[in-house]
Amino acid sequence: MGLLSLGTPLPWEEAKKFADHVRFNGITQFMNTWDRVKDRYGDELLWGDEVEYMVVELDHERKSAVLSLCQTDVLAKLTPLTDHIDAATDDSIAAPTFHPEYGRFMLESTPGRPYTGSLRDLLSVEGNMRFRRNLARKNMDRNQIPVTFTSFPRLGVPGRFTKPYYDPADAVSSHSLFLPEQITNPHARFPTLTANIRKRRGSKVAINLPIFVDTRTPRPFVDPTIPWQRNIYPEDPEAKNGAALTDHIYMDAMGFGMGCCCLQLTFQGCSIEESRRLYDAFIPLGPIMLALTAASPLWRGYIADVDCRWNVIAGSVDDRTEEERGLKPLKENKKQIPKSRYDSVDWYLSETWMNRPEYNDNPFPIDEPIYDRLRNHGIDDLLSKHVAHLFIRDPIVIFAELLDQDNNSSTDHFENIQSTNWQTMRFKPPPANSPIGWRVEFRSMEVQMTDFENAAFAVFIVLLSRAILLFNLNTYIPISKVDENMRRAQQRDAVRQCSFYFRKDVFPPPSRQNSGAASPNGSIEGHHSSRGSPSGSGSCTPSGGKPRSMTNCYPLPPLPDEGPPRGAVEDEYEEYTMDQIINGRGAAFPGLLGLVEDYLSTLDLDETEQRKISSYLNLVRRRANGTLKTPATWIREFVRAHPAYKSDSVVSEEINYDLMVAVDEIERGVRRAPDLLPEDYTGGQQDQGTL
Ligand code: ADP
Ligand code: MG
Ligand code: MG
Ligand code: MG
Repeated sequence: MGLLSLGTPLPWEEAKKFADHVRFNGITQFMNTWDRVKDRYGDELLWGDEVEYMVVELDHERKSAVLSLCQTDVLAKLTPLTDHIDAATDDSIAAPTFHPEYGRFMLESTPGRPYTGSLRDLLSVEGNMRFRRNLARKNMDRNQIPVTFTSFPRLGVPGRFTKPYYDPADAVSSHSLFLPEQITNPHARFPTLTANIRKRRGSKVAINLPIFVDTRTPRPFVDPTIPWQRNIYPEDPEAKNGAALTDHIYMDAMGFGMGCCCLQLTFQGCSIEESRRLYDAFIPLGPIMLALTAASPLWRGYIADVDCRWNVIAGSVDDRTEEERGLKPLKENKKQIPKSRYDSVDWYLSETWMNRPEYNDNPFPIDEPIYDRLRNHGIDDLLSKHVAHLFIRDPIVIFAELLDQDNNSSTDHFENIQSTNWQTMRFKPPPANSPIGWRVEFRSMEVQMTDFENAAFAVFIVLLSRAILLFNLNTYIPISKVDENMRRAQQRDAVRQCSFYFRKDVFPPPSRQNSGAASPNGSIEGHHSSRGSPSGSGSCTPSGGKPRSMTNCYPLPPLPDEGPPRGAVEDEYEEYTMDQIINGRGAAFPGLLGLVEDYLSTLDLDETEQRKISSYLNLVRRRANGTLKTPATWIREFVRAHPAYKSDSVVSEEINYDLMVAVDEIERGVRRAPDLLPEDYTGGQQDQGTL
């Protein structure tokens, strides 16, 4: 959730006076970072995951499952414990880290130390995730369980959905009709974010998800659980005045989005160029991976006709005014802004020839004076535009004590804006006073119910990142088409029902500079010598043999012999099924999995390692070809098949309880779900995992 600063947060009326101050100094800090690390080269592959949990409390007698607002208590137990593990164990083991998140029922965990490129680390991901989950579980009460569930099905229903119970009448930050104040992490940052987004926008946020119309869903569907007549806060009439749409599930607070859990991955590049290249290559994969991991069909006690969280979060922190949203002529505000500050990436960043200017075809407002400052400082056009685009946003939370910073040693003002631009990818510059290099973060995926699945997607993405770099793959399509894919990815059963824009030919054209370089399909020749020396530590290539680690520092794609491509970009992409994108199209394309397998064949894996990685890739394969369901489809079908379900789109307390019990049992391996997980899945508690 970005940085947590301590101090006195300014209310919006005060904070907005300092917006330019934060932006100006944030840019100074970025330029200082640039001066310090623009030429940094040779950082090794380090990477890590973030897994988010919600703590669910089960009451077996009442058959109820509610969110336990116990974040502070659990973290208070976990923190000294993880400190103790660090002190007590040898160097090769790092204690995991637990962080608070937006919801007072949420936790996030990361490995205590990033993974290196070694195969040992790659194969430890699942055990590492399980170790973290089990540690969290052991430090909860007996009836509490950490579930990796993207959206809690009954968040915001009338009556009890948290323990302890709180009344939404007290929602002083969000003014929500549904979520009490106490749903939010009490750290000053979070209530202030919530209140200041509402104040800046000039109304509550309004999210409307189409309801899944079942055989007995009332039509038109006018939600009887909305307290239409409530009159506590000035915003209360918004629902009946049009904010809540017929045939939709209406949500009115930041907590509905930021209360969702996801799976994120961060990768360190060799240099700024390698990170920019990876950032771009990942952008078109964002919606693909969102569709493959879709896991959130249930919202505020109803079944929705969508499968993913993305648009809910985008709407839940949409602080744009009516002018900025184009609903009123510009008067107070300077420009229209097409997207929420939580949304898909708008701009490819890399300076390699592969990034044709035509691909950046979205409307793209920037802060011009900031762009000029960056350009005058010697920063290139693409990166200057990227930063000047992030900086069209106001800082939402400003701490009085942190207004004056030493811009040489702090990046706090820069991070203030950067970390509240929540996009599908994040380009992370090196922090001040830290050994960390240029990183990119892959942020679109929904969290999966088991760590087997979470590890499978993490392993797939890190391997794919190496295949992209090793084989010089080109994944670019116009960014407007990536946005269209984002829209499709969230639709019900998108994996099986939708097609997605994807590049026809991902392979680079011939290049003399490329001779001897790696090419896929098993014909990898001489790539160790031609790919530049693998960077840093961790690489342990036996002489003449294959390496036992993944590396960084690949040469950037060499210019093709025929020069940069000039044909129409419309001829470069086509619509494909998920199966074609992941599993291939015969001789025309090996699929992303085929490319990953080609990359794997360059590594020295033993049989056990090969088998484990194959089981991960097999999950991805089967999700894409529809022989395993996405969590979203599985969850939707669970509800619809439940004996207590009345075919009216309602997720009752009893159904929700049984669903949470099932999710927990599946995760632990005591209940089978052969349509969701492979036959040989044994469960998270069978193997406590080793670090
Ligand atoms: P945020 O919430 O800002 O995205 P977190 O600290 O929660 O960041 O997670 C960052 C992830 O990056 C963790 O998985 C961590 O292990 C990993 N990580 C830490 N250092 C590096 C590094 N130098 N390069 C790549 N990943 C790193
Ligand atoms: Mg998080
Ligand atoms: Mg985090
Ligand atoms: Mg993150």
